[in-house]
Amino acid sequence: MTARGCGKVRGVGPEILEAGVAAIARAAELIRAGDLVAFPTETVYGLGADATSDAAIAAIFAAKDRPTFNPLIVHFADPRAASRQVAFDARARLLAKSFWPGPLTLVLPRRESCRISLLTSSGLDTLAVRVPGHPIAREFLAAAARPIAAPSANVSGRVSPTTARHVVDSLDGCVSLILDGGPCEIGIESTVVDLSGGPALMLRPGGVSREAIEAVIGGIAEFGGGDAPAKSPGLQDRHYAPDRPLRLNATRAHAGEAFLGFGRDAPKSLPGDVMNLSPSGNVDEAAANLFAMIRALDRKGISAIAVAPIPDHGLGRAINDRLRRAASGDA
Ligand code: AMP
Ligand code: MG
Repeated sequence: MTARGCGKVRGVGPEILEAGVAAIARAAELIRAGDLVAFPTETVYGLGADATSDAAIAAIFAAKDRPTFNPLIVHFADPRAASRQVAFDARARLLAKSFWPGPLTLVLPRRESCRISLLTSSGLDTLAVRVPGHPIAREFLAAAARPIAAPSANVSGRVSPTTARHVVDSLDGCVSLILDGGPCEIGIESTVVDLSGGPALMLRPGGVSREAIEAVIGGIAEFGGGDAPAKSPGLQDRHYAPDRPLRLNATRAHAGEAFLGFGRDAPKSLPGDVMNLSPSGNVDEAAANLFAMIRALDRKGISAIAVAPIPDHGLGRAINDRLRRAASGDA
């Protein structure tokens, strides 16, 4: 039996290696050969491929069952490597200086000489670029000596992976090697800011807060409105979804529901499963726990996962964005 469109046999399982020097060298070799390698970043685990190879990029879309109109983020070892492929303006330089390496993605115009596969950016004349901060990701990028396109290492539309185990559960035979670097520190995807023309536009809240970005480049417009789908084709859909429905802004669980709490006041014991994103009410801690706890509560036999309200500041905005989209379409 094959899994999705990746052509590999389910159950044959990927190689999982603790990310030391030899494992990173092997991962880099596989990338250069056109294979898919999952690796840790400070946000979530990425499913990486050589961004200059049409065939390798096509394999990412197949493995994730991701619509090809949803463009990928390309990761670089350093800002200089990124600036060879896309054009930075003054705002982009300021943001890169402030937040790279780190969980910020910039959408910038492709240079005419850009070597990144057009499939990566779904034929758009812009490209999403990032220099990640995780030491394993950086060593891997340096060893591969080429840009690596990497969406989250999960089937399209489902919960993102924050451990190597989650990647195995999500993609199984579709990935050649998983570099295991332990749990991801931030646990939520990068912030995506579009600087490809006109005012800065926040396409996706994420690991760098809006407040931190505005402190560097001033006010930034919110994604939405008429041209939104054309600007970022992947942001419309239901996404991050567990198997069971989510019920948001819940103060308690109904019979049959699991409960995902936040802060001191969250109930500790209920008849069903209960977890707390952050007993001390810290949104950064909650972001780091979000996807792993949703996965843990998403079990057969429950009717829904009831989720407590999360404050809408700092990384809380990114959490609420993920929760809203995970719940969209649920009754
Ligand atoms: P993911 O790979 O799942 O982390 O998602 C990457 C996000 O960045 C998606 O929501 C894409 O729509 C967005 N994105 C990637 N490239 C571009 C681009 N060139 N223009 C606008 N949005 C982009
Ligand atoms: Mg994703």
